Amino acid sequence: MLKKARVLVVEDEKSIAELVRVHLTHSGFEAVLAEGGADAQRAINAVLPDVILLDWMLPGGQSGLDLARKWRREERSKHIPIIMLTAKSEERDKVTGLDCGVDDYVTKPFSPNELMARVRAMLRRRAPERLAERVAIGALALDAEEFSVTYDGEKLTLGPTEFRMLHYLMKHPGRVHSRAVLLDKVWGDHVFIEERTVDVHIKRLRGALGAGSHLIETVRGAGYRLVAGADKTSGTAEK
Ligand code: CA
Repeated sequence: MLKKARVLVVEDEKSIAELVRVHLTHSGFEAVLAEGGADAQRAINAVLPDVILLDWMLPGGQSGLDLARKWRREERSKHIPIIMLTAKSEERDKVTGLDCGVDDYVTKPFSPNELMARVRAMLRRRAPERLAERVAIGALALDAEEFSVTYDGEKLTLGPTEFRMLHYLMKHPGRVHSRAVLLDKVWGDHVFIEERTVDVHIKRLRGALGAGSHLIETVRGAGYRLVAGADKTSGTAEK
């Protein structure tokens, strides 16, 4: 990597922010610290970070989840991977976060080495998206360079993880992929991620596909696959 990856750390607890900053710097990243939402927004407006580490509970009753939602909505920030730092370890909260567009979770107290591994994994995962590549299956078309997906000509809105998953599935249509394989191919590093996370993102991907949701098939006991050629409009959508 020519340029140091920039990691924005949104954390109001100074001791944690400092610990993370030291580890990021040692790992060869550029760390930018923000204590709350306003600071973080200023940092994003100035220079777009490559990854955001976002605390769940911020000062003034601010929620990291609200920030994550807001950044996912905004054109400028919607593709930045977000890792949530949270003391809440219940699965239900994690699912809420994943539904808000958070890409990964680290539960406090965390090991700085694990956090660094997750940051590296997040950056590795982003790399394949940069390849100029277009793929079309029936009425579904994906442009990796433009980060766009259309179904029957209509533009769809996908989160970064759903996009990577769809990209991978479209490159291997008709084949069944286990959750472990998807974690490996889509997340890039599945050491710290539960297999159930795949199901959450598949659900979100189906939601985003709307009328095309039937293209993602659950194969009981095996995993998921993209249905190849079973699309009702595939006969007419070919170019
Ligand atoms: Ca906090």
